[in-house]
Amino acid sequence: MFCIAVANQKGGVGKTTSAINVATALAASGHRVLLIDLDPQGNASTGLGIAQAQRGRSSYDVLIERDGLVPAAVPTSIPKLDIVPATVDLSGAEIELVELDQRTHRLYRAMELAEDRWDIVLIDCPPSLGLLTINAMVAADALLVPLQCEFFALEGLSQLLNTVERIRARFNPSLSILGVALTMYDRRNRLTDQVSNDVRAVLGKVVFDTVIPRNVRLSEAPSHGLPALIYDHRCSGSEAYMALAREVLQRLPREKEVA
Ligand code: ADP
Ligand code: MG
Repeated sequence: MFCIAVANQKGGVGKTTSAINVATALAASGHRVLLIDLDPQGNASTGLGIAQAQRGRSSYDVLIERDGLVPAAVPTSIPKLDIVPATVDLSGAEIELVELDQRTHRLYRAMELAEDRWDIVLIDCPPSLGLLTINAMVAADALLVPLQCEFFALEGLSQLLNTVERIRARFNPSLSILGVALTMYDRRNRLTDQVSNDVRAVLGKVVFDTVIPRNVRLSEAPSHGLPALIYDHRCSGSEAYMALAREVLQRLPREKEVA
């Protein structure tokens, strides 16, 4: 089981879109995939067609009640893709966790208990560096960091990397950065081109070759409860996410390589 946290404390940079579509592409290529929705907004759950009323056990129960991942996971309409949905009570978890023992390792323990039920686990993190994201970073083998092609793209990244350093030093020495994915790229806009060049100059090979274009189909798909990859598998956004998923697979360490 290889666990990837999709994290960036900025909101609206494409975390959830990336988590849903990379998860779908990995499942389509034959891997057993679990997506854990760790954002109280529950956009990943909605985007995969899990209505509020269908959400029984949730990521809140996994963190606070110590329900396991296996009982909390529900199948999606995509074969081989399960999800642990998020409910609104997760917004209180950040505060509730402070009082609990092992508050940083709740998700890690749940992952241990799930053993090898899935090949790849993706965690859709909330837009903050609080205890929810810390739980994800402690549980994860690696991070996938979506970075929006905008003027302040790199601002805030140092804060994220500092947090990663602290997590490595205290809890999870092997936490790696799987890659940085440039999102919402607009080739008609020269600024985004420049941003993408600057980011590559600063960060180097950690940046995935694949760039996710700005594509309206990606933003329409969630309202249909479907990943863009199913809603319109031929749009430029879907093609980009399939390419990104291939790069993700190439970057997985050999010993954790999956079927
Ligand atoms: P985050 O999870 O980081 O807050 P989202 O994935 O929810 O970001 O994206 C924020 C908004 O932008 C959503 O409405 C989403 O549908 C839209 N969006 C994300 N990626 C793209 C893209 N490449 N092109 C167009 N719209 C996008
Ligand atoms: Mg999100």
